[in-house]
Amino acid sequence: MIDIKDTIAAIATPIGNSGIGIIRISGDDAVRISDEIIRSRSGESLDLFSSPSHTIHYGYVYDGDRIVDEILVSVMRAPRSYTSEDTVEINCHGGMFVMNEVLSLVISHGARLARVGEFTERAFLNGRIDLSQAEAVMDLISSENEFSRSNSISQIKGSVRDKIGGMREKIIHEAAFIEAALDDPENYQIDDDYKDTLSSLIDEISDEIRSLLKDAESVRYLRNGIDTVIAGRPNVGKSSLMNLFAGYEKAIVTSLPGTTRDILEEKISIDGLILNLIDTAGLHDTIDEVESIGIERARTEMEKADLVLYVIDSSDDLKEDDEIFMKDMIGSSCIIILNKTDLGCRIDPDHLKDISKAPVVEISVKEETGIAELKEMIKDLFCKDMIKDSRRVYITNKRQTEKLRDALSSLEEVMQSVKNGMTEDTFTIDMMDAYHSLGSIIGEDVSDDLADRIFSEFCMGK
Ligand code: GDP
Repeated sequence: MIDIKDTIAAIATPIGNSGIGIIRISGDDAVRISDEIIRSRSGESLDLFSSPSHTIHYGYVYDGDRIVDEILVSVMRAPRSYTSEDTVEINCHGGMFVMNEVLSLVISHGARLARVGEFTERAFLNGRIDLSQAEAVMDLISSENEFSRSNSISQIKGSVRDKIGGMREKIIHEAAFIEAALDDPENYQIDDDYKDTLSSLIDEISDEIRSLLKDAESVRYLRNGIDTVIAGRPNVGKSSLMNLFAGYEKAIVTSLPGTTRDILEEKISIDGLILNLIDTAGLHDTIDEVESIGIERARTEMEKADLVLYVIDSSDDLKEDDEIFMKDMIGSSCIIILNKTDLGCRIDPDHLKDISKAPVVEISVKEETGIAELKEMIKDLFCKDMIKDSRRVYITNKRQTEKLRDALSSLEEVMQSVKNGMTEDTFTIDMMDAYHSLGSIIGEDVSDDLADRIFSEFCMGK
């Protein structure tokens, strides 16, 4: 584990030229170092030592008598800062050369170059945030959609900590009671009904964990997007649909069958739900070698996809290929799209519903009708309630879900012991295992190696 007594510094803004660059300094010497290198234009001290917390000052960075840059400096005093330590942020000009000059000066005056994630690690080590909040900071930085952003913010505010803390509280309370009853049977008695009380409590906590794990699976779509394949016979309007979704001509649309010979990909957002759209080569028999490789890849993509949008030309008769495909897809997430309804629909949607057991929507890409219904259907299939329910706690981190699984299996052991009529002392071992697994989600009892590994995935200056 690193020494948290020394003062650390890093460039907190991206490496490259930009309008402003921020040099962040944290630790006992942060204010002293800044005071030594920052003065007014006429060279007078800004007296940062006596400046109140959360104030910003205008000045110049000096290397001896040489002015390096014109800056603004913010002073945040312990414990009211990101790291809980005295923290100074120097807003300098955002050129690489300038930022490196200022950083070198800070280091030559006594700071050490921070490791990646070290500011957040300090916030964790100083007890300002728990591990779930630290991990949420990184998730927020890398979030690409509204769900990830708002979920990370709620985790930073402590939603996971509170949820996990509540479950741990119940476990420790019960484990302590059992231990007390075993140590001091005169004052604490385990009566005949106790096993029922314990079972229902363990059941309740297990259900909470199961529901978190179930949500974790669903929110995978909200975080990473839904891998969606647009499939169908040639010339039914797959590329046109992709273009309509994407808002520009990405796929080549022609009236010649077989124009999309390989795979095209596009990310689109439906009210914050991300679709990773893949337009594929039309599915049909062909003797064209390149095209048949494309068709093969299309089938592979469909097997891997979370959602298949299967497009049919409704102005034509239903083909045998379509029927075979729809039967093959029964059981997976699929929406059947009857396109080109502007030309008149020759196919009965109810018949398609019967064959495919999937929802069917009638659209015209050309006239842009039915698109809103299609989007609603997609949202219905994937986590509609979740997008709306902002108060629910979602655990999205893989490490955290693994620990939830560990906790659940320990609680299942407890239930088994109760059922098998084991003695009370055997319950507490598994209860405490569950307690520790839940604890490691929020960073209780995590090893130094694990903490180092987690923070090493952060970015510089965070
Ligand atoms: P793909 O081979 O399935 O990707 O089909 P395309 O998107 O290339 O479209 C094939 C042809 O159908 C093009 O001429 C499109 O302009 C046309 N098309 C696509 N959607 C519609 C629609 O909703 N109505 C009509 N009338 N034509 C459409």
